[in-house]
Amino acid sequence: MVETRHQTRLLTLLRDEGPMSRVELGERLELPRARVGAEVTRLAEVGLVETAGPSASRGGRRSTLVRLAGDLRVLSVDVGATSVGVAVTDASCEVLAHAVEDCDVRQGPHPVLRRVAELAAKIRDEAPGRLVAAGIGLPGPVSFAEGMAVAPPIMPGWDRFNVRDHLGGLWGCPVAVDNDVNAMALGERHAGVARSTDDLMFVKIGTGIGCGIVLGGKVYRGVAGTAGDIGHIRLDDFGPTCACGEVGCLEAYFGGAALARDGLALARSGRSAHLAEVATERGAVTARDVGRAAAAGDFGAVNLIRDGGRRLGQVVASLVSFLNPGMVVIGGGVAQLGHQLLAEVRGAVYRRSLPLATGNLPIVLSELGETAGVIGAAWSATDRAFTLSS
Ligand SMILES: [Zn+2]
Repeated sequence: MVETRHQTRLLTLLRDEGPMSRVELGERLELPRARVGAEVTRLAEVGLVETAGPSASRGGRRSTLVRLAGDLRVLSVDVGATSVGVAVTDASCEVLAHAVEDCDVRQGPHPVLRRVAELAAKIRDEAPGRLVAAGIGLPGPVSFAEGMAVAPPIMPGWDRFNVRDHLGGLWGCPVAVDNDVNAMALGERHAGVARSTDDLMFVKIGTGIGCGIVLGGKVYRGVAGTAGDIGHIRLDDFGPTCACGEVGCLEAYFGGAALARDGLALARSGRSAHLAEVATERGAVTARDVGRAAAAGDFGAVNLIRDGGRRLGQVVASLVSFLNPGMVVIGGGVAQLGHQLLAEVRGAVYRRSLPLATGNLPIVLSELGETAGVIGAAWSATDRAFTLSS
């Protein structure tokens, strides 16, 4: 689709900064006007850009604006441990339609991706157009280069299943496959609370815990794609057993699964009237119940969140010392526990990290909430689609 490196830069610039005149494009890309004109003409012929109304006059002739074609569509998917979200965006990654539903990732790739395809078909009707790219975030370690999850602890059946080829075959467009936390970090970087921040950490607290690292505006994935897998940092050699088979991992203390486990224990111990009621009614307690109980002032539930937040804060403090980011964003389902959690994490980080590292360090909640993942996946998708294919 894209034929030259100049076209890649031009499309990316239009996505990131919106419509521009040919003159502005030439200045920003440092290309002669004739060259910009030729690339724009070519991209218009293949339907990737179009010309819009005239821009403000610069003392001479009024020039028309070039923008990404309005009918281009991107499908983006956020697979969590217990839910899937699917969005249709335009080529600038603006969400046009979005749907989320419960879905257990442990069912394996075929049932989950079938459901994704059904949801996608439904919401594409709400925002019709030409599909040019797709992106998907998965809740486990992903080989970005191969487009698949590799030995994911909570995703039985997904190991080395080629998600990129599967969805590419289905939708007939380039597909980017990434870790869900990386996608969320990218979403916040481009469209959320971290818009003007090139170096940031996005800490996701969902069923498990992970961290997306953005350095110099780009996701840092590490050699094999497992950078930021902080959920399995060991805090205690004699701690609780983790889903990964080890003991004492951060995730075994905190995160959705650990909160549900501890919430149920609390209910049974009789130390939380609120949670005991939930447990009697439904036979189980979720992280959300713990959050609700804490919000209602239940002492036991508040303590669970404080303890968890403090442990998470210890790890985040170490990472801040190591990386010196410009912002720490906390997101994911359990982040809805909100300000109590945030206060604990802030307390731990500001106490334990050097003043120079924390002096200008905002530690904030995600702004995009449940759309962070799909917006980030759309960003990865367009990056891939706008790149010269070899
Ligand atoms: Zn673990």
